[in-house]
Amino acid sequence: MAKKQFKAESKRLLEMMINSIYTHKEIFLRELISNASDAMDKLYFKSMQENLGITRDDLAINLSFNKDARTITIEDNGIGMDKDELENNLGVIAQSGSFRFKQDNADADKEEVDVIGQFGVGFYSAFMVAKKVTVLTKKYGDENAYLWSSEGVDGYTITDAEKDKNGSVITLFLKDDTEDEDYSEFLAEYKLRSLVKRYSDYIRYPIKMPVTKRKPKEGKEGEYDETTEIETLNSMVPIWKKSKQELTDEQYNEYYKEKFLDYMDPLTHIHSKTEGTATYNALLFIPKKAPFDFYTKEYEKGLQLYSSGVMIMEKCADLLPDYFSFVRGLVDSEDLSLNISREMLQHDKQLKLIEKSLERTIKNELKKMLNNDREKYEEFWKNFGLQIKYGLYSSYGTQKEFLQDLLLFTSSAEKKLTTLEEYVTRMKEGQDAIYFASGESVAKLDTLPQTEMLKDKGYEILYLTDNVDEFIVKMLVDYDGKEFKSIQSSDADFETEDEKKEKKEKSEQNKDLLAEMKKALEGKVADVRISAKLRSHPVCLTSDGEVSLEMEKVLGAMPGNEMKPKADRVLEVNADHPIFAKLQFLFDNDKEKLAAYADILYDQALLIEGLDIDDPVEYCNKVCALMVN
Ligand code: ADP
Repeated sequence: MAKKQFKAESKRLLEMMINSIYTHKEIFLRELISNASDAMDKLYFKSMQENLGITRDDLAINLSFNKDARTITIEDNGIGMDKDELENNLGVIAQSGSFRFKQDNADADKEEVDVIGQFGVGFYSAFMVAKKVTVLTKKYGDENAYLWSSEGVDGYTITDAEKDKNGSVITLFLKDDTEDEDYSEFLAEYKLRSLVKRYSDYIRYPIKMPVTKRKPKEGKEGEYDETTEIETLNSMVPIWKKSKQELTDEQYNEYYKEKFLDYMDPLTHIHSKTEGTATYNALLFIPKKAPFDFYTKEYEKGLQLYSSGVMIMEKCADLLPDYFSFVRGLVDSEDLSLNISREMLQHDKQLKLIEKSLERTIKNELKKMLNNDREKYEEFWKNFGLQIKYGLYSSYGTQKEFLQDLLLFTSSAEKKLTTLEEYVTRMKEGQDAIYFASGESVAKLDTLPQTEMLKDKGYEILYLTDNVDEFIVKMLVDYDGKEFKSIQSSDADFETEDEKKEKKEKSEQNKDLLAEMKKALEGKVADVRISAKLRSHPVCLTSDGEVSLEMEKVLGAMPGNEMKPKADRVLEVNADHPIFAKLQFLFDNDKEKLAAYADILYDQALLIEGLDIDDPVEYCNKVCALMVN
């Protein structure tokens, strides 16, 4: 019998499949099951229209394998195909989704389109694992059955055949194993079962397979009877398609642990059904703890993507913005084509709409948690707050409005976490800025010389202890019209008008002393000034301009040898401190000693700020010299 040739397009796709180095060869099963399910949908639909009396319960997929013959069989009792349909559907790829996809993308260089990387490669994916494929099929209502058979690019044959029921039987004759490829792995119960569970669990028809059961032989210890039972491998109803009322927290949690391989219950789940510009079901989880690799380059964000109950991508990164990269879960949409490649997904309008909508959903859920279950939110924040901050930072502030209300910072008031909104509502009358200090730890910041005065005055300070914090605050600029102000900056002016006046007078009176100290600290500080920030401490260190001391520290710790920005340091001196009288005395009587004092005070200011001093030995020598004197 003469072999028929595949049409040129089909032949090319087929060649690619046969020589596929695609690592996800296993998806062939998903494709064939999906086709079987479609064929049954068609029959069911026809039955409803024409009152044929076929119910969903009559329809099923039978999966089986034969180790000796090295075959896998997928049988359905769906609509089946007649001779013309066989010819048109399996001989000409123009009918298949893969080709439609290519036509839709006429601008993409046809030769370059990576068919293998596509999801939903269709019937031809069978040739990734099979050297020969046969399709025995009988169209519903027809007398005749046909056998389509192909060993690949050579072409295919269609012959008359015998089959009593309508539907199709697809038989794959697996390729021989090679050094690199183990095709025999598909000839195992557990493998097929796990593939069905993984990719086709939610196919709405039962996928049945004969499975071997071992039962202990009565009276004979250690011996077993083996029987074969038909088992339905898939659960059929996707949990996300069920209504929320039907489901318990426990069911959500179990699903999460099983599918996302976590041993802990999630912190929370979000189950949403959205209709409108983007129509989709989503089931999302926020883990309780950050995975061990979460803050490393190895961590991959993404949600599972389903198209009408069929998984088309295991990890679709485009569905999640970076600041929500910790979210696990899935999205199921009928608006997405099965035949869509990774590259195309990135440009898919529908997917973009879904992403935007998911973003809002996740944010609202977090906001709700923040408002209604503070303890839970703080637990969330401990694990993933840093990621939200990184995301906010790397979005260059474009997400300010969207994310700023999710932020928490430790506040000087009771050392508890606070939102910016809470801070602002607690602001004292006349306070026009949000004060912050940044450094290594809350404990250290709380003892900074500058904080004493502010706290005395009843102002609250946000303690920023993550490296990224100060950059975030810089980017936010303000919250609710209130500017962020560092209390470690030289121009942080939280003094009253009177205090300002007094500071100015004292600065004027001690002009020469300050200049002398500045001279002594040449190259170390940009200036020496009288301070209005200090109460019981003699000195503190602040900075002029954009780069703060903390930023200098953070940037300095980053890899790379390029010029690191330095803070313009300002030594602020407390004119009311007893040491100041001593400085005045030394200025009049012993300039050399004044220089040593300036040095010591500067080093002390560094130490209090948590910065290294240039020469610890020299510092100690100077202090000792003073002690013996
Ligand atoms: P797609 O499913 O994307 O259309 P395929 O290459 O997988 O592309 O299949 C091509 C066509 O062959 C299908 O559209 C369908 O008409 C037909 N077909 C495939 N498998 C079956 C089946 N089991 N029963 C009936 N028709 C089938």
